[in-house]
Amino acid sequence: MTALILDGKSLAQQREAQLKESVSGLVQRNGNRTPILATILVGDDPASATYVQMKGNACRRVGMDSIKVELPQSTTTEELLATINDLNNNPDVHGILLQHPVPEQIDERACFDAIDLAKDVDGVTTQGFGRMAMAEPAYGSATPAGIMHLLEHYGIELSGKHAVVVGRSPILGKPMAAMLLNANCTVTICHSRTANLADHVAQADILVGAVGRPELIRAEWIKDGAVVVDAGYHPGGIGDIEKDGLENRVAALTPVPGGVGPMTINALISQTVEAAEKAADAAQ
Ligand code: NAP
Repeated sequence: MTALILDGKSLAQQREAQLKESVSGLVQRNGNRTPILATILVGDDPASATYVQMKGNACRRVGMDSIKVELPQSTTTEELLATINDLNNNPDVHGILLQHPVPEQIDERACFDAIDLAKDVDGVTTQGFGRMAMAEPAYGSATPAGIMHLLEHYGIELSGKHAVVVGRSPILGKPMAAMLLNANCTVTICHSRTANLADHVAQADILVGAVGRPELIRAEWIKDGAVVVDAGYHPGGIGDIEKDGLENRVAALTPVPGGVGPMTINALISQTVEAAEKAADAAQ
């Protein structure tokens, strides 16, 4: 068996071409107002700075603007909340991205939850998560939402399959599990206290690695014919899942890089366009 490569880079490019047309139509019917994503970067983590830069670049590629807010490492929760509040009240801003993680003195959950639900295009609020989990209209957390687009595009069957998600973070593992459940998978969530991780991974028809540890999930644990999605990215193009030999025995596989990463940015941009369209409709 030769694994189908779930090429997030090329799908994101295709979706960007469609988004560019949507944005152009939206600008015309909305008095030349360009949709705007506000990004907030707190502190001096170079990886976070790169991610924010990439998100701003993606906005430009589809004809949107971005406002870049940069705050120092010493920022307090109150200061960040005030910034978020200003952006909530700015009618020109359609989406708000607070780059995770923020410095540890900040109450990240309080700040995520301060984002106006209508502008929560990265799907980080508790309310947005709850609505998504209940299958009500909501912007999904960008990384799992991007993964779902990727699986859908490649026609990966989910209903009745056993999905194993390794990782339970609020932005990735938990919403991923809820989305797969909503797609009628039987879902197992693993985390740092899970006993016998290898045994759980071996059960997976659909495996999602979201642990943040290079190649923690070993290739030999994974069963033949599984669909393997690796959200991890570490220096040297290494993911959270070891890939040795998998290309010859699993059904499908995301490359690292070029799999989940581009789809995360694409989901964010796509949800920002949707928010701008809703704002334009509401104003008419
Ligand atoms: P995180 O907040 O650090 O969460 C990691 C999760 O992995 C936690 O739930 C943790 O369990 C679990 N874990 C840690 N060690 C484990 C072990 N030995 N066995 C089983 N589970 C273990 O990370 P995250 O933000 O979800 O990110 C996860 C990965 O996705 C990272 O590699 C990150 O770089 C990547 N990521 C990629 C994108 C993208 O756009 N491509 C976006 C976001 C994240 P506990 O809950 O018990 O601590």
